Parts: sequence; structure tokens; C-alpha cells
Amino acid sequence: MGLGWWAVELIYETDRREFQSETEGYEIVARATGRWEYRTVTITFNMALVPDRTDAELETDIVHEMCHILVFEMQGEDVGDYQKHVERTVCSLANAFLWTRAEGRKEGIKATRKERKE
Ligand SMILES: [Zn+2]
Repeated sequence: MGLGWWAVELIYETDRREFQSETEGYEIVARATGRWEYRTVTITFNMALVPDRTDAELETDIVHEMCHILVFEMQGEDVGDYQKHVERTVCSLANAFLWTRAEGRKEGIKATRKERKE
């Protein structure tokens, strides 16, 4: 995703108690935490839920967490519904990246097919 200048650590956590959302009352699949000023991030996956996710859902989860990296610097204290705005922004960014890649693949396939016909 072009985030090579970040140090990204991946943790596969098996203790699901770490993932209870305090505000929404459900378990989350993954969480990104880090120090944007040092460009370091840790993405922790909830291994109690990962096996039940489809490949497409996991891809979206991973892109979503990577998009958190893009907005880390704008995040502050969780005041009011601020975190909901962050989540909405990150969902939109993740969808935009996934759509762009899918469209790029379509164009790539078309170009390859044209080459073969000529
Ligand atoms: Zn999120």
C-alpha cells in the first residue's frame, strides 16, 4: 500500500479479551496502535475471530488497519463521537484503495489481452 517508510509490527493475539470495544460492545477483528511521530505501528489481530473471516473480509480488515496509519497523525483524544469520524474516514479510504486496485487489475487484464491478440 505504499507505506514502506513505516515500521509495521504484526501481532496475532489469542486472548480475545483484548478486543472488546468499550464504546460499541462488540469484539473487533484488529487494532492499529502506534506512534505516528516515529512512524511505528503495531497491528494486532484477534485470532479468535480471524478464522471465521472470508478472504475478502480479511483483506478489507487489513487495508482498513493500514489506512489507520494514514490518519494517525490527526487522531487525538477520543472525545465525543470523534472516533466514529475516524472509523468512517478509514472505511472510506480502505474502500477507495480496494476499488482502485480492482479497477487497475481490470485495466491490466484488458491490456494483456490486447497484446496477445496483436
Ligand atoms: Zn478502524
